[in-house]
Amino acid sequence: MLLLNPGPVTLTERVRRAMLQPDLCHREPEFFDLQDEARTRLLAVYGLPADTWQAVLITGSGTAAVESMVASLVPEDGRLLVIENGVYGERIAQIAAHYRIDHEAVRCDWLQAPDPAAIVARLDAAAAAGRPFTHAALIHHETTTGRLNPVAPLAAACRERGIHLLLDGVSSFGAEAIDFAEEALAAVAAAGNKCLHGVPGLSFVMVRRGALARAARRAFYLDLGRLAELQDRRNTPFTPAVHACYALVEALRELDEAGGWRRRHEHYAALAERARSGLAALGIESMLPAAESSVVLRAYRLPARLAYDALHDGLKAAGFVIYAGQGGFSGRMFRISTMGDLHAPDIDRLLQAAAGLVD
Ligand SMILES: *Cc1c(COP(=O)(O)O)cnc(C)c1O
Repeated sequence: MLLLNPGPVTLTERVRRAMLQPDLCHREPEFFDLQDEARTRLLAVYGLPADTWQAVLITGSGTAAVESMVASLVPEDGRLLVIENGVYGERIAQIAAHYRIDHEAVRCDWLQAPDPAAIVARLDAAAAAGRPFTHAALIHHETTTGRLNPVAPLAAACRERGIHLLLDGVSSFGAEAIDFAEEALAAVAAAGNKCLHGVPGLSFVMVRRGALARAARRAFYLDLGRLAELQDRRNTPFTPAVHACYALVEALRELDEAGGWRRRHEHYAALAERARSGLAALGIESMLPAAESSVVLRAYRLPARLAYDALHDGLKAAGFVIYAGQGGFSGRMFRISTMGDLHAPDIDRLLQAAAGLVD
């Protein structure tokens, strides 16, 4: 079975076998060597200097990393502006509400890119009212629709106003460009089981060391400042997902040997284009223009004559798991992710199976 859902992904045999290494106690040097390698290799994915950036591992799915980032990096007296154009943007606002973080949301059309002018207006209105935002949160790749949200315009607006940007890069880290040199960028949350091709259970936050200095202590298990401090001292507060760490390290070695994130970006782009053009030939339209989509996942309009379940079940019988539309898109949309150990012949077989269902 090949997974075309946005994580967990189809593993390579090499990563799968990496989990069969010796059992480790998480308080022995062997585990801390593994933890150190994971953290060092995460920095290396985007060539980040260890004196400025820190990779903090978190046991939990991608949401754990996003929650840890939001709950910890917005200081007690901070104010957060959340930019929403999909399910994951909404989730950040839910997290902020849950921790009673002073926040507002800019709700954008889920099929549109956020409007920079509207965001700037909100930032400036809050400042003029004497309640300036200290932080803004954006989803990099909004997996709801496959849109790659432009980060640069928002980051520039934040930089000019001294606002820190928190990025949900869960479904982009390892396959899309991320400008870590942008001073406004304080942190990026991501996970091992999406573009990095590890297994679920381990996520991480790439965080500027300076941003941690003012971290809040709202969360207990997900306290980013504490996790960072202990990991820097070759320690850990709780039992980490040891086997997921084995898998992540092996997946990061594999990524590096295969030419890094740029090479992965090209590979995904070729697969996404192959799927898009093949589906277009069957009369299935993309929800978004290719130029506005990530290379990681694409959303397609469900043909009027075809129910989602029939498409899903038919493709599953042929060995592929696709993903439904979320929220208001259920019944109207389906999604195909090309993360994981997937290759052109897999997409060709998918298209063949789809052709049999569309006719
Ligand atoms: C997958 C994903 C998450 C995390 O979801 P989990 O179910 O916790 O793995 C967060 N943000 C985005 C954009 C995602 O694609």
